[in-house]
Amino acid sequence: MIDLRAFSLEGKQVLVTGANTGIGQGIALSLARAGAKVIGIGRSSMDETASLINQMDGNFIAHTCDLGDSAQTRDLVDTVWEKHGAIDGIINNAGIIRRNDAADFSEDDWDDVLEVNLKAPFLISQAFGRRVLAENRRGKIVNIASLLSFQGGIRVVSYAASKHGIAGLTKDLANEWATRGINVNAIAPGYIDTNNTEALRADPKRSQEILGRIPAGRWGKPSDIGDTAVFLCAAASDYLTGTVIPVDGGWLAR
Ligand code: NAP
Repeated sequence: MIDLRAFSLEGKQVLVTGANTGIGQGIALSLARAGAKVIGIGRSSMDETASLINQMDGNFIAHTCDLGDSAQTRDLVDTVWEKHGAIDGIINNAGIIRRNDAADFSEDDWDDVLEVNLKAPFLISQAFGRRVLAENRRGKIVNIASLLSFQGGIRVVSYAASKHGIAGLTKDLANEWATRGINVNAIAPGYIDTNNTEALRADPKRSQEILGRIPAGRWGKPSDIGDTAVFLCAAASDYLTGTVIPVDGGWLAR
């Protein structure tokens, strides 16, 4: 008999930032497929995600928040918790990237990226942790890191710094909360076919170089990340914490 209950998210409520498109949409769909009620957080319409989840008879609620504005981010978890009930997991997925030579990199391009990619995940995780600890519940935090949590990249200095920061945030929170029922992990996606990588795919030379270096021989799909997020939100991963898991078709092994 097959018993997959340890991998089920039935009865769980999980918040996903940036759920309107790309990896966040893929994660929302995977979580819903595993039985979770998904609360999508974003600044753009999430109708497409809602419709895809409704088609599979899943549960999806959209909640608007601009994660570039820390005043909004700070209240997010409490507001959602009061309105929709306890949250079992959060996926800090929303992220932006700015490209320029380091010598010409503007302070705005530094601040904007750090705000969305690192400060927002910290504020959201902190607010979630406070609630989970106060109510003596279990919680799962999944941060979306990057290959640039391990490597430096080029012409993306604020992005690389933010994603290295995500690895540090993940490990600190994991250490502090490991005995208190909260697991904190990160997924480092490889090259995934989304808006974020559109510029790379539009450049035939760069695109070919990247593809030629991926052992799996293909770009990743949002569902590749989504299905790993399901595992990290499920009871099956209860002894897994403080890790940054590459889901990269073998890129880092090469
Ligand atoms: P994407 O398609 O550009 O999606 C980014 C998401 O973040 C969108 O939902 C976007 O909303 C949201 N977002 C950005 N700024 C926001 C703000 N101020 N407030 C609320 N939401 C905001 O990129 P993606 O590839 O799916 O990226 C998702 C995550 O994966 C990011 O953290 C990225 O760094 C990471 N990642 C991606 C790759 C890859 O190959 N694609 C690789 C490694 C890591 P809008 O649509 O409204 O802008």
